[in-house]
Amino acid sequence: MKAPAESSANKLQNGAIRRALLNWHRAHARDLPWRRTRDPYAVWVSEVMLQQTQVTTVVPYYERFLRAFPTIERLARSPFEKVAKQWSGLGYYRRARYLHSAARKVMKDFGGQFPPEYSLARQLPGVGHYTACAVLSIAYNQPLAVMDGNAARVMARLAALRGHLQQSRFRHAVEEMAQRLLSPREPGLFNQAIMELGQTVCLKGVPHCPICPVRAWCHAWSQGQPESYPQPRPRRPTEARHLATAVIRKGKRIVLTQGLDEGLLDDLWNFPAAFGSSPQEAFENLQNKLMKETLAAIHRRSPIATVQHRITYRLIYAEIYPATLRNGTRADALRWFALNELDDAPISQLTRKIAKVIQRTTNAPSQTWSRSGSAMRPLEPTPR
Ligand code: SF4
Repeated sequence: MKAPAESSANKLQNGAIRRALLNWHRAHARDLPWRRTRDPYAVWVSEVMLQQTQVTTVVPYYERFLRAFPTIERLARSPFEKVAKQWSGLGYYRRARYLHSAARKVMKDFGGQFPPEYSLARQLPGVGHYTACAVLSIAYNQPLAVMDGNAARVMARLAALRGHLQQSRFRHAVEEMAQRLLSPREPGLFNQAIMELGQTVCLKGVPHCPICPVRAWCHAWSQGQPESYPQPRPRRPTEARHLATAVIRKGKRIVLTQGLDEGLLDDLWNFPAAFGSSPQEAFENLQNKLMKETLAAIHRRSPIATVQHRITYRLIYAEIYPATLRNGTRADALRWFALNELDDAPISQLTRKIAKVIQRTTNAPSQTWSRSGSAMRPLEPTPR
């Protein structure tokens, strides 16, 4: 990726920012396990785990994962169930599935080595622009600037750029600036330094400008309102949805199927469920779905409980209906899970919540409950 042409004055200034940042990083960066290696596989695992997840959460998972799968070959040879178990609790299981299938592709097509070329790296499942640039710059020293939310914030403040990451004009401007600032000799270290600055000093709320190594060149700081950059991205309004959920259980075991509905949570096991804009519509959609898949029959038309759960902009009211398996259900469409072994299972947070509620209601069959936040309250009967 070629950096745009720049004037001599800009070159001098960029050189000074670069040096200040790299020196600060050498002296102050946190000691994180993935910073002690340049093994492309280990860097790749860390970058995948760090997507959407806090550094402190990732550290123990990263260490356990590399103990379980120390090489790409070991990862590729392991069944996905074993990988999912190591990933359990980290969330966004799709990342684990992609990592696993990408490891298999690396073994098959790239001789067991993470490809050192951008175009080849992008052929791997789950490796987008960000991950390719991060791994190639850190592990192979390639001059590719990375752009995550932290780096974008630092760039926006340094240059006092208006806008937010959902605008292509803004994205383009911060990417171009990062590419111009990038250290040609130590691109991986520079990328890590920018992200570290965003995570520990140039914070999303109030930045710690007095201790910032690049304050002297920061336009947002000199204007006196650094926290107003970048602009917050507009929030999508909350959408309330009803989700009719079938609970099939035998003693302490329950039946789950893969995916939720409408393409959500595809990689995780969930109670059979269907969305609707009202409890009635969701119930009917669920009945049709269960009928079509010859899966289960619902016992009653009123739910035994309602669980409230948020997935991004969706506020879900999951209404729970007891159900039984139909004769002739395909075994590959479902799986039995023991209620007391769900901690390590690749299931969604919503499934965990529902499982907790049904465990609580087991000994009080005549009591129905609704869950709102952490408080339990009796459920109003649903009019039908
Ligand atoms: Fe961020 Fe403040 Fe540093 Fe500017 S001076 S980059 S706003 S921490």
